[in-house]
Amino acid sequence: MIDRLSSLNELTLDVLRAEIEPYKLKTKFRFQNWAKSVECYPKAVYKLETEEQIRYLIELARREGVELRAYGAGHSPSDLVCTDGYLLSLDRMNQVLHVDKQRNQMSFQAGIRLEELHAKARKEGMAVSSLGSISEQSIGGAISTATHGLGIKYSGLSGMVTQLTIITADTNVRTCTADQNSDLFYATLCGLGCTGIITRVTMQLEPDFKLKEEMFAMSFNDFVGSLETKDDEGEHGLLGSAEHVRALFFPHNDYVKISRINRTTKPDSPQPGFWERWFNQYLVATHFFQLGLFVARYLPSVLKTHEQILWQFSHNPHRRPKITPPSEKFRWTRLGEPVYAVAKSNEIFNYDCGPRQYTYEGCVPITSLENTLRELHAWFKKEENSAQGLQFHFPVEIRPVDKDQVWLSPCYQTRVVYIGIQIYKPWGFAVPHADLFERFEAILHKNGGRPHWAKAHTYSPEALSRIYPRFQDFLRLREEVDPKRLFVNHYLRRHLFGAEVGLRQFTIE
Ligand SMILES: Cc1cc2nc3c(=O)[nH]c(=O)nc-3n(C[C@H](O)[C@H](O)[C@H](O)COP(=O)(O)OP(=O)(O)OC[C@H]3O[C@@H](n4cnc5c(N)ncnc54)[C@H](O)[C@@H]3O)c2cc1C
Repeated sequence: MIDRLSSLNELTLDVLRAEIEPYKLKTKFRFQNWAKSVECYPKAVYKLETEEQIRYLIELARREGVELRAYGAGHSPSDLVCTDGYLLSLDRMNQVLHVDKQRNQMSFQAGIRLEELHAKARKEGMAVSSLGSISEQSIGGAISTATHGLGIKYSGLSGMVTQLTIITADTNVRTCTADQNSDLFYATLCGLGCTGIITRVTMQLEPDFKLKEEMFAMSFNDFVGSLETKDDEGEHGLLGSAEHVRALFFPHNDYVKISRINRTTKPDSPQPGFWERWFNQYLVATHFFQLGLFVARYLPSVLKTHEQILWQFSHNPHRRPKITPPSEKFRWTRLGEPVYAVAKSNEIFNYDCGPRQYTYEGCVPITSLENTLRELHAWFKKEENSAQGLQFHFPVEIRPVDKDQVWLSPCYQTRVVYIGIQIYKPWGFAVPHADLFERFEAILHKNGGRPHWAKAHTYSPEALSRIYPRFQDFLRLREEVDPKRLFVNHYLRRHLFGAEVGLRQFTIE
């Protein structure tokens, strides 16, 4: 096998095809992302099991001149994965490769889903230090878009990677670390699938831990007053008052639900019973929630009352509301006494994101957060009070993340706060969102914003070049490792090379 691999270019196309034919899906495949907002019909889909097979597929695609994209869980809410060329799934490459207990590091095949990774890491007494709202993603997909969690001293997942193995367009298998092939390392850590196929990932984890979440609500004004951010390195008021902090803003009623989350050794809190879960999660948070959003498609004025009802029955953490003024122990005003939950780390980091949705997310430097939030708030109120105003749903997610050194990471050398909005699709029905996202993006951009790469955004190469100091380096290196643009699809042609190819081609109406 080694001999054959070292001379791939001597193999005929028929031999290459025959090697990977058993791993090709037999039926015509329609790729849809999780949100069912984009779809594509690839020429063929391969579910490969080894790096050798990936090399064959790359060689085949290169010789045939067919575009090749890898995909993981398909959770990116844009056409980032979409292609009419070849699609490669790494779902069958999901094993643990190495465990280093002394350094708390583990190596995985890149197709492993985060939820499997948590289970396997926990068996070895380790866990991921910070996570986003879900764990359905593959590790390869998550780091390719710089997926983030929360915490001013915690970077996104790309910042936790210590070593990568990547197969480039010339079919070479390259190992990259901060010291070895370091440019390729920092480019691929948010490489959007266009520097090569990631096959192995080594991550810096930490000893397994539990988290204690303290939840309480504040008024929007008190929340903004609590930020106290003067510079990038400072203490950052409320956002820096715990290891991990997230804020969910309910824009129609001006409530903010805060979670302050810290490591703990306390016993787990009791889980809600069947009927409590049925009422809260199934009846209220799923069906009543969607019913209100469905009615709002025709009668947007119900959104405020809908949010208020959902707040009371589902989100308000205060069973006995009682404004608690600032005290020495806690220097900000809350709308009631906090409630607490203790559980495994991933169970507290992850939460229910609601039904399928369109979403836009970007981040601003932490120093611009207060200004950004005030502008967003004024704009929401203007829309709400206008008969023709744009519809917006709740909650707006606000999560701080620490800086990293990854060339295209939105956190590149800057401590940031991500702000995300979603427009849900009640029972799958479409709701207008494009104008809302464009205006939202404009406010973030004005405040130094950078878009989340997985989400549909409108940044041109020129604009990206201005906000990413290493953007041109990324393009240069990308061209070096993939001169024929084998891994470049429509999304990348649009945002990296300025081609006039809209999202429309793949949009599901
Ligand atoms: C409900 C929901 C909640 C989310 N929450 C968060 C959150 O809290 N924080 C956050 O930052 N993001 C969040 N996201 C976005 C999500 O983390 C990203 O879209 C992530 O990329 C999805 O991983 P995936 O495995 O589905 O990748 P895919 O969407 O399948 O692929 C994403 C990109 O990775 C590339 N890729 C995949 N595998 C490889 C590989 N092996 N080698 C090279 N390239 C590869 C693909 O080509 C593509 O460019 C959320 C998305 C959803 C739908």
